[in-house]
Amino acid sequence: MLPPDPAEQLLLDLGITEPAEIDVEVIACLSGAVVGYRPLPCGDARILGVGNKAIITVDAGASPARQRFSVAHELGHWHHHRGQRLVCHAAGQSDPASVGGAEREADRYAASLLMPRFMMTPVVASAPMSMALVHWVAERFRASLLAAMLRLVDVHAGAFAVVVEQPDGRRWFKRSATLDRRWLVWPNGPAECRTEDSRTCPAIDWYRGSGLSRRRVAYEVQPLGGGCTVHLIGRPI
Ligand SMILES: [Zn+2]
Repeated sequence: MLPPDPAEQLLLDLGITEPAEIDVEVIACLSGAVVGYRPLPCGDARILGVGNKAIITVDAGASPARQRFSVAHELGHWHHHRGQRLVCHAAGQSDPASVGGAEREADRYAASLLMPRFMMTPVVASAPMSMALVHWVAERFRASLLAAMLRLVDVHAGAFAVVVEQPDGRRWFKRSATLDRRWLVWPNGPAECRTEDSRTCPAIDWYRGSGLSRRRVAYEVQPLGGGCTVHLIGRPI
C-alpha cells in the first residue's frame, strides 16, 4: 500500500474538502510559515527557515496562479527539505525531466496541495480529456493552465500525451499512465498544428511505433502565454 501523499494528508488533517477552501497563505501560517510579496530579481519565490518558523517570499510581479503555485512549492520544500539550502527554478513551469530531485519533489507537493487527487478524481472521472476540461480545472482550482494540464496527466484515466513548446523552441512531453507503451511520443510534431484550434491528425505526426500508419489522433492546441504552447494529443484510433 502506498504511503499517504503528505500534501493531501495535510488538507485532510485541516478538514479542507473543497477547492475554494485551499487558502495557501492560511495553510502556510498553520505550517509555521508567513508569506510576503515583493519584486524578486530572479525566480518566483524563496523560503528562509529557522527552527520551526519560515518566511516565504513570492515575486509580487507574478500572476496570482503562479504566486499560489509558488507558495505551495515552497511549502513542499518546507515539508521535504527543511534545513537544506536550495535555489528554486521557475516553479511548475519547466520540463519535469530537467529539474533536480528536490525541485520535482516540491512541484509534486504543490500540485497535490492545490489539486488534490481526492477532490479531482470525482469531478474528472466522467469527463473526457480536453482543453475545455483543462480550463475548467484551472478555474475551479485557481491554477495556471499548464499546472492544470500537468496535474490532469497524473490524475485523469484517459490515454493521451501533452507536448509543451517553450519560448526558446524546446519541446518536452508528458504521457498519461494509460497510454499504450508501444507508442512513443514524437514531440517534434508538425509546425502547422500550432495554428489549429481543434482537429484530428495522422497519428504518425505525434507518435512512433508499429501499426500507426492508418490511425488518427484527436488533437488540440492552446497558447499558454509567455510564448508557451501546449499540444494535447489523444491515443491513436
Ligand atoms: Zn524550489
